[in-house]
Amino acid sequence: MAITLTSHGAAGTVTGSKHLLEVQHSNGTLTRILLDCGMFQGEAVRDVDTDPNRSFGFEPSSIDLLVLSHAHIDHSGLIPRLVAEGFAGPIYSTPATHDLCTIMLADSAHIQEYDHAYDLKRARKKGKEPEADGPLYTVADVEPALDLFVELAYETTEEILPGITLTYSDAGHILGSAAVHLTLNDGERTVRLTFTGDVGRYVDRILPEPVPFPQADVIICESTYGDRDHPPIADAEDELLRYVKEICVANKGKLIIPAFSIGKTQEILYTLNSLSNDGKLPRIPVFVDSPLAISATQVAREHSQLFRDVVRAELEMDPDLFSFPGTEFVRAAERSKQLNDIEGPCIIISASGMMEAGRIRHHLRNELGDPANGLLAVGFCAPGTLGARILDGAEEVKIFGDTIPVKARIMRMEFYSAHADRQELVRYLSCQDPKKVKEVFLVHGVDHSLEGLKGLLGSKGFKKITIPHRGQHFKL
Ligand SMILES: [Zn+2]
Repeated sequence: MAITLTSHGAAGTVTGSKHLLEVQHSNGTLTRILLDCGMFQGEAVRDVDTDPNRSFGFEPSSIDLLVLSHAHIDHSGLIPRLVAEGFAGPIYSTPATHDLCTIMLADSAHIQEYDHAYDLKRARKKGKEPEADGPLYTVADVEPALDLFVELAYETTEEILPGITLTYSDAGHILGSAAVHLTLNDGERTVRLTFTGDVGRYVDRILPEPVPFPQADVIICESTYGDRDHPPIADAEDELLRYVKEICVANKGKLIIPAFSIGKTQEILYTLNSLSNDGKLPRIPVFVDSPLAISATQVAREHSQLFRDVVRAELEMDPDLFSFPGTEFVRAAERSKQLNDIEGPCIIISASGMMEAGRIRHHLRNELGDPANGLLAVGFCAPGTLGARILDGAEEVKIFGDTIPVKARIMRMEFYSAHADRQELVRYLSCQDPKKVKEVFLVHGVDHSLEGLKGLLGSKGFKKITIPHRGQHFKL
């Protein structure tokens, strides 16, 4: 059995997660397993001559099976395109990931169509031809992709192809997120491969800790925070309350919180809900202005058995941990527009987290120019995204073609990160005997994170640590 690993995304970058395993069995059969099918976002798209989302680097119809780690778009976002281009195999995911993908891929398809229509309009205005052929995929491409999903619960082993088994373990990153464990056996030799997907925190407020996993021979490990540690999370409630008081009470301004629809939004709502239950939250309207975030919050409610024990226990006292007096979930676009005219302080939680798409951009266009307002970033913004430019201190930014001065106070709460930091990644891998691991591939990080983690894991006894380039082949 010969196994080749090729990373077609999240190699030297944090988006576009796509790792191809080609297994040549001794009986001559060749199987191809794709781990994740993520979309490139931000700088990764702008920095190359050809849009990496438009060429997979392999033939979609040649893939036998897709194994998905979790629902984030940079891991799942190109699934509809993969299916539209000929992939017809099963797509394995946990049940919660399936539910989240159902809402996220539809949302992503809307964004693709919207962005393409916008590009066309702009190109026509300038008398130019549009650059791209069409949207990456359309709403019509989503349903056929969702039909291919096969659910597999955590810690259940299934033979997914002859001689190949799959087990998921809880990675604690977002609802339903999993590390992927494959055992490949053709009677000659056995290779145990673990793909961490994205690894969560040991201090997440809602989700349980990442679960230790069986000994692996090969590990593909994420490196997002491979060279950094997060500040302690213990005072998240206090810090959030302080920002609310400074912006909404003292300044009478609007506190804008761009948040990923999945994970971050629920964590902020959960924190505000706790403050409200404790009688500490000032009486200010809180708007959750994102249909996707509202749907994701509903999915979280439906999968509450996946929460931490202490959080599940809270449900007995408070059956809805994501809403409290003053919360308004805004689905209708009309209502969203009305928020522009609201006088007085409020909190607006809206997507997307990196501020690249969605309703958040309307709020930023309206509110960034007012020094009484605050923008609270609660997550990682990939280089090149609007969020990264604002956090880097840009004095003005372009939104929908308008130049907007950045006068609002820019704040950041790193500890809401859904990603394990350097020490947590080491802790996650501490279930492994490093001498038994033949090779570790570091993916899903930028150069300094990858190099930082490489050095650290080397000092922990891992012998061979490789940082793959996109399209580079490795024999396992
Ligand atoms: Zn993720």
